[in-house]
Amino acid sequence: MSEPSCPTRAPALLSPWRRRCQWGATLLLLLIPWFRIKGDSLLRVDIPELSLYFFGQTLRIEELYLVLLFSLLLTLGFLLITMVLGRVWCGWLCPQTTLTDLAEWFARRLKFKPGRDNSLFKKSVLHCFYLLLALLVSANLLWYFIEPQVFFIKLASGQMHYATWICLVLVATIIYLDMALIRRLMCSEFCPYGRFQTTLADETTLALHLPESELVRCIECNSCVQVCPMEIDIRCGYQVECINCGRCLDACRQVMAKRNQPGLISYSFGTSGKGVKALFNVRTLLLSMATLALSVILVFAVYQRPEASLKISVSHTVASRVLQDGSRATFFNAWVNNRSNKNASYEIIARQAANANPLTLKGQPNGITLGPGGNLRIDFVLITPVSEARLEVDFILLDQTGSELANARAYID
Ligand code: SF4
Ligand code: SF4
Repeated sequence: MSEPSCPTRAPALLSPWRRRCQWGATLLLLLIPWFRIKGDSLLRVDIPELSLYFFGQTLRIEELYLVLLFSLLLTLGFLLITMVLGRVWCGWLCPQTTLTDLAEWFARRLKFKPGRDNSLFKKSVLHCFYLLLALLVSANLLWYFIEPQVFFIKLASGQMHYATWICLVLVATIIYLDMALIRRLMCSEFCPYGRFQTTLADETTLALHLPESELVRCIECNSCVQVCPMEIDIRCGYQVECINCGRCLDACRQVMAKRNQPGLISYSFGTSGKGVKALFNVRTLLLSMATLALSVILVFAVYQRPEASLKISVSHTVASRVLQDGSRATFFNAWVNNRSNKNASYEIIARQAANANPLTLKGQPNGITLGPGGNLRIDFVLITPVSEARLEVDFILLDQTGSELANARAYID
């Protein structure tokens, strides 16, 4: 019997949307290190300064609890997304998938057929492509630690630190080997996130689905299997290796469009037939509430931080001594951090914790001026009466109006 000859309508495909998502995520990862806000990187870990620049906020190492809160929020968010949308991250956004797609795209452009094509030229071009991509990704990762402008200046002038070179080469080698040897095996066998997802997916999770009622329309063309990067036959039901990429859905839609029929495969929230309503279950609602609550706590914690911080430590290099007038001189180091986005001047004062009596400070405790996000180490001497008892001293950081911004306590034995 001949196929119907009436014109067919082009089916709506998901592939262009998936590619847009992948390009968007890739550009974002590549460009974020180049942007600055309030004079600092948008997102960067500064190891020498022990600081994290995070979208206009400068977090010092002592504020790492905020980073931990943020990591917890990311984990909860990931759990929630995985529980609701399954492996959508893997198929639509994950850099590993994007790199593998790029490697496969380039091999197709070269007309290179793995296992069958032994052309040395094509193999060499392909491996050069992997290497260039690996170097770009490795450099991109480093830009989250070293500003890209500084990275290129140091690279051009040959002043790059050997540790940076080691990281660059090591990460590039791992990515090169991943592209040359592992690729999709990472998603099906090694990726811990992929393994983890299998425990989170339940009967309400978004997945590619071919309802049994539709199987009668299947023409056994095998297009859905041929396009599947994970080598899955979706007709056999949900499989944990499926990365929700939607290629099988597109393939089936294209095949069936030629017969003026809708595709058989669709995204659906589980197999219960409840659709989006399936999402309203205790597990998802509890996790959504926890994620929301943690987001509020984090925003509150970040924006309610004092505008400056003070850390005090007795000097480890200069011993305290008794002066001619009988008082004791103790040497201190202090670290002041201006967390605000404007220039600020500070003063440090000291008081006895027990009775709030003022104590004398000599050195640099006055007229401390710092730019936005600036840090400064200050050395000064605390003069205290010699006493048998242990002395508790409060150091207070004041702004130029005399308001208290931060304090720290020290003990003089
Ligand atoms: S079964 Fe479909 S959605 Fe799942 S990985 Fe294969 S092509 Fe992608
Ligand atoms: S692409 Fe569609 S019609 Fe072809 S085998 Fe797969 S499910 Fe059946």
